[in-house]
Amino acid sequence: MVNKKLIRELLNESSCTHNKTKKSSCDKPKPGATSGGCAFEGSQISLFPFADVVHLVHSPATCIGASWETRQTLTSYEKQNNTLTGYTTDVNTNDVIFGGTKKLEDSIEYIVKHKNPKSIFVYETCVTAMIGDDMDNVCSRMEEKHKIPVVVIHSPGFVGGKNLGSRLGAESVFHQLIGTKEPKEIHPFGINLIGEYNVTGDMWQYISILEKIGIKIISTLAGDGRVENIQMAHRAKLNVIVCAKSLISLTRKMQEKYQIPYVSVSFYGKRDTSNAIRSIVNAFGDENLSKKAEEIIKAEESKLEEKLIPYKKLFKGKKAILNTGGNKSWSIASALQDIGLEVVATSVKKATLEDKEIASKYVDILMTNPGVEQAKLIDEHNVDILLAGGRSLYTAIKKKVAFVDVNQEKKVSYGAYNGLINLAKDVSYAVNNRVFKIVGSPEPWN
Ligand code: SF4
Repeated sequence: MVNKKLIRELLNESSCTHNKTKKSSCDKPKPGATSGGCAFEGSQISLFPFADVVHLVHSPATCIGASWETRQTLTSYEKQNNTLTGYTTDVNTNDVIFGGTKKLEDSIEYIVKHKNPKSIFVYETCVTAMIGDDMDNVCSRMEEKHKIPVVVIHSPGFVGGKNLGSRLGAESVFHQLIGTKEPKEIHPFGINLIGEYNVTGDMWQYISILEKIGIKIISTLAGDGRVENIQMAHRAKLNVIVCAKSLISLTRKMQEKYQIPYVSVSFYGKRDTSNAIRSIVNAFGDENLSKKAEEIIKAEESKLEEKLIPYKKLFKGKKAILNTGGNKSWSIASALQDIGLEVVATSVKKATLEDKEIASKYVDILMTNPGVEQAKLIDEHNVDILLAGGRSLYTAIKKKVAFVDVNQEKKVSYGAYNGLINLAKDVSYAVNNRVFKIVGSPEPWN
């Protein structure tokens, strides 16, 4: 059942900076305003990377299309990657009248019998919330019977947007999974990566560096995640929020319940990757660990700078505009500056107040209406490249400037030191690509 008190609490998260200074809540639901993604979509996107889990959407078949496979979240769980198949109870008119709980129960039985997953996550959606199916009852009976966690996520689309949905997904994990299993031993430098979805393998760019320093990844929510690891997340010594402030409610609650402190970091760009490593290591206050970290940072930075020499030469004097969402408004801007580009403006349309504050430290012009502003700014500042989501490609073509897709449709990782080389390569291909100049020209026969 939708918990109104919880939703109010999540929208007024006390750890958010804007709530500390000025009492203001986050994205309040506006009826019908789900164009940026509904709460169900948000919850499924944030939990979908658990590949050892079957994700069952209790809804008419259409809901599943809203969120399935929208990001290239990679997994190393190849044995039985359950995220390759979408599961839905396909609620129909008959179920709306007589209730869909029988169908839900049958679906769970089918999944256990044929897929044998480590866990099943069941998502509540608009229709099943409105008809009042008692999903908690069905799922707890199924959990008892099959001895695997059957987690209910109460995130029907009508409660709000994608951001709130991520929080609701994390709530379910907090109450139904974290703390339900004990590890064989507790690592002194164990961390949880919260809000890292391993899109295009971003996480794999830096976990080997952390492990070399002596840090152990206990669990991730949810990039390349395993349900058993998240059950033991309460035994980590530090929570690391990776570029996703939407999950700050979870880390605050884990601090209150399990006394796990948290740090918030970004692994995009050279400066931010080095700072992220330092923030994690400094949180442990261990001299040897810090020393090792500094040695590794120094070696990685010098390797990177060496590889960046030809790109920096190519990008000298080149100007960029960035139009992307949330924390990427500043984290990608920082990465672009690290490869030698001047970032003229960045979009903060979908950014939180905190992200806007950080973005203003990196870039002078913050666009609140990029659809209108970016084309004007390209002309005014003689910009060479636009980095944005697919929809802005047409602006780049019209303005005859190079274009790189930096949203989830991107094909390679831009994370950490190695990812920065990938970003430099993509920018160089775009800058050198004549097609952006030619495609916007008048037809030769005219
Ligand atoms: S949960 Fe509601 S808003 Fe979201 S896709 Fe389904 S019907 Fe649409």
